[in-house]
Amino acid sequence: MKIAVLIVAAGKSSRLPGDRPKPYRLLAGRAVVRHSVEIFTNHPDIATVHVVINPVHRPLYDEAVAKLGLSQPIEGGAERQDSVRLGLEALAVQSPDAVLIHDAARPCISVALIDRVIAALKTHDAVIPVIPVNDTIKRVQDGAVSETLPRHELMAVQTPQGFSFSVILAAHRRFAGQAMTDDAALIEAAGGSVVTVEGEVENFKLTNAADWERMYRMETRTGMGFDVHRLTEDAGRPLMLCGVEIASEWALEGHSDADVGLHALTDALLGALAAGDIGQHFPPSDPKWKNADSSAFVAEAMRLLAERGGQLNHADITLICEQPKIGPHRDAMRQKVAGLLHVDASRVSIKATTTEGLGFTGRGEGIAAQAVVTISI
Ligand code: MG
Repeated sequence: MKIAVLIVAAGKSSRLPGDRPKPYRLLAGRAVVRHSVEIFTNHPDIATVHVVINPVHRPLYDEAVAKLGLSQPIEGGAERQDSVRLGLEALAVQSPDAVLIHDAARPCISVALIDRVIAALKTHDAVIPVIPVNDTIKRVQDGAVSETLPRHELMAVQTPQGFSFSVILAAHRRFAGQAMTDDAALIEAAGGSVVTVEGEVENFKLTNAADWERMYRMETRTGMGFDVHRLTEDAGRPLMLCGVEIASEWALEGHSDADVGLHALTDALLGALAAGDIGQHFPPSDPKWKNADSSAFVAEAMRLLAERGGQLNHADITLICEQPKIGPHRDAMRQKVAGLLHVDASRVSIKATTTEGLGFTGRGEGIAAQAVVTISI
């Protein structure tokens, strides 16, 4: 079975204003439309992939699918239905057996979903993925409820919708210009039957700003940080570890308060953001940071995270030293760090280890710290 794919990206994106039209916004470093283009072009059962675009977006399109070796895009029409019809007409010369029609605004499509649609197409002319509706749906007229619909009969419809090519092309030619909201509706109007396969909640459609927030947060990043400071006998200088002052005749040397745990944490946050390192943001040569509370470094990294629309998921810090014993201070450290990161303490781990007397930490010459953070952005 020769299967072509038509990805529809010709809309005006009027419900999601922004600096770029919806198909060309960057999601995890790739344009939204490129996500579905790549998953289809990499699928072994798909022969060809074609995209229907709004011609005014051509430069954005060329940039979005650069180096994928796609054929020329197809120019869409005024309404979605027009765009699909124009796309099908352009595919007709190839005479595929079947076509999958997919909205570019659903970039989170999975291979498993594509497989289910293709499997059903082997025995049916029209296949749509659906998911159950969890909310009660009511018919409302002029602000008043006129009817509560039986929820168990209702399904939300997704794409890709799969069709026998000749059947869907005939339906689109017959019902051209009627502005139906999905392609299966044309088969229904023609009296054909449409079967369903299981859709996926994750395959939701990017429509408004709230959808974008939800989709954008799907990127998880990890950052790691490492730091060392020398221990010195100085009863007059506080020993700061993970924001907690520990009573000791020893202190850590450094330009700031030398809190090795918070420095590693700051570097982990900067690392997850690919935003340089702590030395770039807070140069030791700057007198401003003399004896500074290292909480300020974490706060700045968190400000950068918030500025990028990200949020912290988890932080794991390991302190490497023979002395002081970390156990008695662990809970206070977790609370302190959780406060700096604006998360519950259940998302903060403080661990400690020795190096069995080996190396500079083993000889008590200094303390090392490692931190790993995960963020959603
Ligand atoms: Mg440091």
